[in-house]
Amino acid sequence: MARLVMKFGGTSVADIDRIRNVARHVKREVDAGHDVAVVVSAMSGKTNELVAWCRDAAPLHDAREYDAVVASGENITAGLLALTLEGIGINARSWQGWQLPIVTSNAHGSARILDINGGELIKRFKERKEVAVIAGFQGVHKETGRITTLGRGGSDTSAVAIAAAIQADRCDIYTDVDGIYTTDPRIVPRARRMPKIAYEEMLELASLGAKVMQVRSVELGMVHNVRIFVRSSFEKPEDIDPHGTPPGSLICGEEEIVEQQVVTGIAFSKDEAQISIRRVPDKPGVAAAIFGPLAEANINVDMIVQNVSEDGSTTDLTFTVPETDFERARTTIEKAKAQIGYSRLDAASDVTKVSVIGIGMRSHAGVAAQAFKALAEKGINIRAITTSEIKFSLLIDEAYTELAVRTLHSLYELDK
Ligand code: ADP
Ligand code: ASP
Ligand code: MG
Repeated sequence: MARLVMKFGGTSVADIDRIRNVARHVKREVDAGHDVAVVVSAMSGKTNELVAWCRDAAPLHDAREYDAVVASGENITAGLLALTLEGIGINARSWQGWQLPIVTSNAHGSARILDINGGELIKRFKERKEVAVIAGFQGVHKETGRITTLGRGGSDTSAVAIAAAIQADRCDIYTDVDGIYTTDPRIVPRARRMPKIAYEEMLELASLGAKVMQVRSVELGMVHNVRIFVRSSFEKPEDIDPHGTPPGSLICGEEEIVEQQVVTGIAFSKDEAQISIRRVPDKPGVAAAIFGPLAEANINVDMIVQNVSEDGSTTDLTFTVPETDFERARTTIEKAKAQIGYSRLDAASDVTKVSVIGIGMRSHAGVAAQAFKALAEKGINIRAITTSEIKFSLLIDEAYTELAVRTLHSLYELDK
């Protein structure tokens, strides 16, 4: 007998038929003797609709009320799944974030989980074999008692945090793909499913654009050593062999991975914008004059490239920011023009960051150089480059995203 967390994303609970399918997956695990806590997302499209309503009602909305509205999507699916489970003879009870409680910081819209009380759930497993159905994505701020949400895709984080709190043996993430692929299978049909992936690699994949898992959920999994298994909810519950290993990907410690590839995955993000400042004085204090005001405006700068000065007195500087902060970043720099003293500002939002990830890069040189050559052969210009121990990222024109991802996918033999 094991203790399991089963998380179902938006497409897996999109209507009552799919919720019935989820209930049968839960029943399968209960019948096998396991204790189960289920975490659900809102029905697919629901959170987007709620967000749009908030914007429509008040463009500069109060984040506390935004959370009160957008958290409601998960309340509905949690209640509906509990009802459906009871209908097929399974003891079940729904839980909203404040009821457990799932205590969070008060950063409304992107709150962090601080504490979860799993005691009541464990008691109910023991006393009545009761399945807990928990609304994902939400929590409560301790001091104010206000509802909070964990940022888009946050149900993954709810699930992993609950798995840590109740010391679950495994956290199963059921979604619309049957695992983690070498790149987004919607872009590269030849992408392959990875049987295992290290936390660190998954963390990079997620933070560099692969939306399959929320970044914080992977961080939590790594810190608390939660075994996360990503699998499909569309597999028929009746077809799953209770003694076999279903298709899926295990996110686990590096030491569990026997055959380590040099490159394991490719991620991309179209949510990037580039700003180039021309003829900036090449002297101490200039970087501070540029990035200080951006930091004060709470704008995250990602890639930074400074050219070597040609004439010894001025240089060009390029950096990227999230596309959502593009206009703010541009005005911030324009306002600081007198202090910085540049001649021209060029900006582009039709850019993509493509990233190549693999723990094996630690011990292999020249991995990035191969990419530069392969992209050049396809006529793709690289606007900026950053590297770190287990990944490198390239900024290119957005129109070449698919071509670049496919080219790199074949180059590193991920198609095979
Ligand atoms: P859910 O609603 O279940 O949380 P998401 O839409 O958040 O599901 O995440 C699943 C999607 O992530 C897939 O449909 C897939 O298109 C996308 N995705 C992006 N990169 C990858 C990858 N490397 N492996 C698998 N899926 C990926
Ligand atoms: N429903 C929320 C969202 O769409 C949380 C989630 O699905 O994980 O972002
Ligand atoms: Mg998701």
